Amino acid sequence: MYDLVITGSGPAGLSAAIYAARAGLKFIILEENLPGGQIINTYEIDNYPGIPGISGSNLASRMEEHARKLAGDSFVDDTVTSAVLNDSVKKIFTASHRIYETRTVIIATGATHRRLEVPGEDMFSGNGVSYCATCDGAFFKEKDVAVVGGGNTAAMDALYLSGLCKSVSIIHRRNVLRADKVLQDKLFSAENIKIYWNCRVDEIYGNEQVKGLKLRDLKNDTVSDLAVDGIFAAVGITPASALFSASVNTDKEGYIIADETCMTNVPGVFAAGDVRTKNLRQVVTAVSDGANAVTSVRQYLLG
Ligand code: NAP
Repeated sequence: MYDLVITGSGPAGLSAAIYAARAGLKFIILEENLPGGQIINTYEIDNYPGIPGISGSNLASRMEEHARKLAGDSFVDDTVTSAVLNDSVKKIFTASHRIYETRTVIIATGATHRRLEVPGEDMFSGNGVSYCATCDGAFFKEKDVAVVGGGNTAAMDALYLSGLCKSVSIIHRRNVLRADKVLQDKLFSAENIKIYWNCRVDEIYGNEQVKGLKLRDLKNDTVSDLAVDGIFAAVGITPASALFSASVNTDKEGYIIADETCMTNVPGVFAAGDVRTKNLRQVVTAVSDGANAVTSVRQYLLG
């Protein structure tokens, strides 16, 4: 029987592992993919205090190294398939047919990219449609690409791609960006980035590879063709909460409802990082959640 099972090894899960190890808890951290979560694919993180301009993968490695130094034996490479959370002894079932019994659970499963949901997206996924600029950008050297979205991810993707590609067209459905001002300033001064305001993608087309997209101008309600070789979708994230949503309360978008204590409606179950309802999803708030969740776990275990 464990004191704690942490599901997910992004910044929130790794931070929770560091705090759990230092608290002397008997715990495991279940990791489905490489530790680090979404930041593995982030070109540069410039707002994590003390480490300016670090790459996401480097920051993830440093967090993992730190957690493994304190609790290397607690890392388990396995995928959660289901969970029974409402009893005082919780059960976590995994793909390797193991059942982990634990008194508390921290859900730190993060979020995955949202899809555009337009015709052609599925057909060209991996053949010109991508959700990760740092993973796939190199395939589009000296080519014309589009980035869809107006948030921090879209802005960072566009800036990264502008250093590789001939041109980058940002397609955004409104006339203001959601991205941080520092990123906007860089976008506006980049010579090979053009922003299509108040526009959306209606369709993606091509032969074996993407050739272009149908661009709808939402103000005039007109449709035109934009020839591009690649399309990077950066239209937000969806919480990875489905495995737990039969037990824990979620909001209408699927985020697990919990405040800064990370306590959910189910005693002994806590949510940390991007999967939790919160105002600001950043690495710094995810690692803060990991620390707060373990503090709440300790209080719960003390009764
Ligand atoms: P986001 O902030 O939610 O932005 C998503 C963007 O996509 C918005 O501009 C939105 O438009 C647009 N959008 C949503 N659905 C769309 C659709 N169906 N079609 C076209 N456009 C659509 O998502 P994100 O950029 O992935 O960032 C996720 C979180 O991670 C945010 O909290 C962000 O701050 C954080 N993040 C932080 C950093 C950093 O600090 N370095 C880097 C990356 C991400 P509207 O603006 O009109 O809603």
